Amino acid sequence: MSNEKNNILPVMEHFYTLQGEGYHQGKAAYFIRLGGCDVGCVWCDVKDSWDVSKHPLLNIEDIVLNVSKTAAKIVVVTGGEPLMHDLSELTDALHNAGFKTNIETSGAHPLSGSWDWICLSPKKFKAPLPGIIPFANELKIVVFNRSDFDWAEKYAALVSPSCKLYLQPEWDKAAEMTPSIIDYIKGNPKWELSLQLHKYINVP
Ligand code: SF4
Repeated sequence: MSNEKNNILPVMEHFYTLQGEGYHQGKAAYFIRLGGCDVGCVWCDVKDSWDVSKHPLLNIEDIVLNVSKTAAKIVVVTGGEPLMHDLSELTDALHNAGFKTNIETSGAHPLSGSWDWICLSPKKFKAPLPGIIPFANELKIVVFNRSDFDWAEKYAALVSPSCKLYLQPEWDKAAEMTPSIIDYIKGNPKWELSLQLHKYINVP
């Protein structure tokens, strides 16, 4: 299953919570975590998402109905790598129901769907396709070691001038890397710090 127009999608989990990362940090948002990822980050904290066949297929109608039962205004589609699937029908249905559509993607698969906010989080393990880069509203680099600052600058030079720039410590390296990130941002103030707030406040 990949990149076929479809009205069913493999959903690993879906829940209403607060966005913990990046520009929309702290806002209420309904998360839809799709199954399937072939990027292979060694530090991935959702490895259970990788095998698409492990996740139940849900109708888009039912997915949107679940969101509608909450007070959510923003829907965040994440993964896994959500762009392994054609998301145009999902975003059409979400827009028709009045929701804002946000996506979190590595950009490693072709962009589909209609998005109010694109968070591009490129990964060294499978680089993003060039086509998505100009459309990123937010560039979020997960910092695992100091070489990731060069990786971050490489993509900062490619995104649009209005794209927000975030450095976020990889969770298990946060104690070690956060001081370096703080120093880096002080020297390069176009960047901002993103923390995984949801992990600190213990929500999904
Ligand atoms: S892109 Fe995301 S889901 Fe896929 S391996 Fe990397 S961190 Fe995990």
